[in-house]
Amino acid sequence: MQIEIEIAKHNNEKLAVFFLDIDRFKLINDIHGHQTGDLILLELTKRLKNILNNREMIARMGGDDFIGILPQIQNHKHDIPEITQRLTKIFDKPFIIKDNRFILTASIGISFYPDDSIHEETLLRNADTAMYKAKEEAGTSFQLYNNNMNLQVNKKLYMEQNLRRAIQNKELRVYYQPIVDIKTGKIKKAEALVRWEHPTEGLISPGKFIPLAEETGLIVPLGEYVLKEACLQAQAWIDQDYQPIEISVNLSAQQFHKSNLTETVKDILAETGLDPKLLGLEITESLAMENIELTCSILEDFKKMNVKILLDDFGTGYSSLSYLTKFAVDIIKIDRSFISNFHNNSKRSAIVSAIIAMANKLTMKTVAEGVENWEEIKFLNDYKCDEAQGYLFSKPVPAKDFEDLLKQKIEFKAQA
Ligand code: C2E
Ligand code: CA
Ligand code: CA
Repeated sequence: MQIEIEIAKHNNEKLAVFFLDIDRFKLINDIHGHQTGDLILLELTKRLKNILNNREMIARMGGDDFIGILPQIQNHKHDIPEITQRLTKIFDKPFIIKDNRFILTASIGISFYPDDSIHEETLLRNADTAMYKAKEEAGTSFQLYNNNMNLQVNKKLYMEQNLRRAIQNKELRVYYQPIVDIKTGKIKKAEALVRWEHPTEGLISPGKFIPLAEETGLIVPLGEYVLKEACLQAQAWIDQDYQPIEISVNLSAQQFHKSNLTETVKDILAETGLDPKLLGLEITESLAMENIELTCSILEDFKKMNVKILLDDFGTGYSSLSYLTKFAVDIIKIDRSFISNFHNNSKRSAIVSAIIAMANKLTMKTVAEGVENWEEIKFLNDYKCDEAQGYLFSKPVPAKDFEDLLKQKIEFKAQA
């Protein structure tokens, strides 16, 4: 690359350096095996070579990272759209490997000689930084490096180190949100939802750190921590003579695809002494659909163990319903976006009643998420929805506050 820089300097030209990283490549490797991953990389290399002219270069940096050097850039404004178009095209067609179709996207960061730096190493580092920024956008996306990015990416790195420490120092707290039986108005279950009690920044909501945890793989130890805490807590409530509370825990894609998930769950149940019947695992439709065979077999294993499966955020992900007949799902959680004021919206209420009717026919139970008023409960009851969760009853609260709710033995019922 140093030679290219010298030439550009000599000709008074610019030079673009790009850093390309395939999105979620690790997941493909985990699910389909390294051999498939390697074949994808080979095909990608071929496609990259096809779009480059003989002065442009690419190299694989190891893993799924590629760098490219594009000399003879006359002016940014004119040349960049042309480059990004060429690169985007590579991902238009699916990658077909051993009869599987992979729709790939990539994140691409670009830096320029001499604008962003005149040094090889810094140019590469800046392109890499821009690539990280591109990761934040869905689909194949590009980012041109700018000076502010270093600050933002540093902040991310800082957050990552912080989160690592948080897991070690037990700064994560599990909160519990009650799930109420609509018929009796009694609390039957709870969903475990993680929070980060940051020593200086206060309580941080999962929306702010779960994506980072997913990206860095920290979601695996984090998820196991939440699972164990929740099982310990559910057993503690039994030991303290509260009514048995079924507890449900969210699973992330990475946990789901780790080969030892069922073993981990078994171990935690054995260690905490919790009856498997009292544990539910929440997975989303899109997660379940990533590898149908694998999902079927994992869900069968959980069924054998007597652990329940809840389909989270139902209605927001995959649109084909045929998989519902294949997967051993016990409970469907209807997404908050359908529930919110559905009784005032004929289309949404048609969807809600259809989901419940369908679930009942398939002998699955239903939970309505994000219930915020009694009107909704009245309709849900008419439609024969089983359970409800939402701010109407309680926000997610620490275990102690959840115990207060249990002690009060409240029956959540609409005033007649
Ligand atoms: P989710 O699994 O869909 O969890 C339900 C979210 O809806 C929670 O947000 C809850 O506080 C919120 N919610 C419940 N009732 C209402 C309501 O009536 N109105 C409104 N506006 N919101 C309501 P939270 O706790 O911020 O969690 C957000 C997401 O973070 C969760 O969505 C889940 O996907 C993820 N998450 C939380 N804890 C974990 C965890 O331990 N592991 C994993 N993998 N993901 C987690
Ligand atoms: Ca959930
Ligand atoms: Ca949900």
